[in-house]
Amino acid sequence: MEQYDLEAFRKKAETQEGQTQAIFKKLKKIKPKVLDQAFHHCHQAAFEEIDCLKCGNCCKTTGPLFTQADINRLARHFKMKPAQFMDTYLRVDEDGDYVLRNLPCPFLGADNHCSVYEKRPKACREFPHTNRNKMRQILNLTQKNASVCPAVFKISRAIDQQLP
Ligand code: SF4
Ligand code: SF4
Repeated sequence: MEQYDLEAFRKKAETQEGQTQAIFKKLKKIKPKVLDQAFHHCHQAAFEEIDCLKCGNCCKTTGPLFTQADINRLARHFKMKPAQFMDTYLRVDEDGDYVLRNLPCPFLGADNHCSVYEKRPKACREFPHTNRNKMRQILNLTQKNASVCPAVFKISRAIDQQLP
């Protein structure tokens, strides 16, 4: 399967960072309900085109936060004690959250399949969070994700086009 050119995406996102900033500044002024509707509509359209199996950039460059429930579930999957799972795969970041010790995620296969897909962390299941409600609350995070996730980049441009 032909993969997306992530290096080209990274450069494009970097070059257009000013535009991304300007878009999110405008998004902050939209009514929360209207904003949610716009995100949900554009999320669906973007993921009809974008195939995560040709990308995997989130798993390669950022990785999720792990909740205690994620840790327990994955430790059970690997027949490890939670402490052993944490020692092997995780570290505590500057905000006190459990994150991957190494990137790309060790559970990511060369074909971009997740080897723990059924047991993957909640944050992986929900990424890039553009179909949730109350998007207003996570606009700063979503702006950052526009330079990680080609779908978020596309969604933000699509919403911008709809704005008056
Ligand atoms: S657990 Fe799976 S979905 Fe989550 S970052 Fe790792 S490879 Fe990606
Ligand atoms: S969620 Fe975004 S960054 Fe992750 S694999 Fe899909 S398109 Fe790529």
